[in-house]
Amino acid sequence: MSDRYASFANSGPGKALVKRLGLPDPPRLRRYRPGDLLVTGPVVLDAAPGGRLREPVAKLLTAAGVDVRDPGAQPDGPGGRTDAALVYDATGITDSTGLRGLYDFFHPHARALTGSGRVIVFGTPPELCGTPREATAQRALEGLTRSIGKEFGRGSTAQLVYVAPGAETAVESTVRFLLSGRSAYVSGQVVRIGTAGTTGTAPADWERPLDGRVALVTGAARGIGAAIARVLARDGAHVVALDVPAAGDALADVANSIGGTALQLDLTAPDAPARLADHLAARHGRVDVVVHNAGITRDKTLGRMDAARWDAVLDVNLSSQERINDILLERDLLPEGGRLIGVSSIAGIAGNRGQTNYATSKAGVIGLVESMAPVLAERGVTVNAVAPGFIETKMTAKMPLTLREAGRRMNSLAQGGLPADVAETIAWFASPASGGVTGNVVRVCGQSLLGA
Ligand code: NAD
Repeated sequence: MSDRYASFANSGPGKALVKRLGLPDPPRLRRYRPGDLLVTGPVVLDAAPGGRLREPVAKLLTAAGVDVRDPGAQPDGPGGRTDAALVYDATGITDSTGLRGLYDFFHPHARALTGSGRVIVFGTPPELCGTPREATAQRALEGLTRSIGKEFGRGSTAQLVYVAPGAETAVESTVRFLLSGRSAYVSGQVVRIGTAGTTGTAPADWERPLDGRVALVTGAARGIGAAIARVLARDGAHVVALDVPAAGDALADVANSIGGTALQLDLTAPDAPARLADHLAARHGRVDVVVHNAGITRDKTLGRMDAARWDAVLDVNLSSQERINDILLERDLLPEGGRLIGVSSIAGIAGNRGQTNYATSKAGVIGLVESMAPVLAERGVTVNAVAPGFIETKMTAKMPLTLREAGRRMNSLAQGGLPADVAETIAWFASPASGGVTGNVVRVCGQSLLGA
């Protein structure tokens, strides 16, 4: 589904009209293409005194060929600064008066960030802080980053990354994801990196981090699932693409186009978990990445909803995932370094009229992530979920026009996301270097106002 308004607003006459009338101005987002540089210009990096992240982050950025600058560095030319990203390590802030350091860093740079610029603030998880004052100051970082996401504009994004003490060297996959065009539609998020389980291993080639890995993607025949299959294959994985037999032709097309395998299976069939486990065991002996993407909607207000609608949605979107996880774990098919990834929704966070069944299932996906993270950490397996907002798919193309337009514009980027935006976020979770990233639910919603 094309966003005609966004195309118009980015055209010559459109730009002028949008500005004159004060209409939403959806910027063209920088999206990743293989071979792209991590960032399009210098990264300004600074830290509060005593910060734990400045040194490891400077090291990894420099090794990645990024031009890392001190905040006092001279502008590039008479045109002024052209910073591509602002990164501030706030882990050294131990009480509220230290928050002034944020103002001192961001104020002089705030208006100089390039289009699709990036802001990352590092903090210490409040629950791991040594004193209430430190925890208070660290919690305060969320207000800053969420406001920057709403304020800087022109396709910029801002995130807060809480890094547990001891996990300082486990941040590279996250920093790379957040700086790059892969995170184009992710903004205003709080990510947690911990020391649970393994903290991951850096891939030999950051362009193909999933080389040698086997990934299962459910609901892969179309929409977001097809995009996930393509992105994971691009990153090097062998993808087992699963969908219902009725979608067999489309599924075969996706699998063939990426050199993967098509598996026709209805996830709600009683023998589905066993058949899936048998397939993975026989063909690969394991599965490294499991993406539970298949999902359905059967909308009706609760009073008018028949039980079949409730049951179908809960079973596809939640219960079938639990059954599959159970059998993969029982049969030891998900090895150490494994990645379980769910697809929730902002409806699961905010709730939605006419979607009690869907929102219950999608909130359940969040519950699954939170409850399974500590259990799986003991096996060196991570579990995370994405919560997409308005994504341009056949599903959202069917929405009534006014609702569709509202969904597209009511976010900091004033546009819908693409299936690839969800897929890129999943690929970050899937990376072997993301071992410290577990228990996260990251919204891919352009910082939607819903549920914020
Ligand atoms: P879609 O309807 O285009 O694709 C879903 C796929 O899942 C289909 O190919 C379908 O055949 C498959 N599927 C359904 N039931 C199945 C079953 N029993 N067994 C095997 N496969 C089955 O949907 P989409 O828009 O690509 O959404 C993908 C996921 O993202 C879903 O979980 C959805 O809830 C979620 N999501 C989508 C949006 C959005 O804006 N499109 C927003 C938030 C969340």
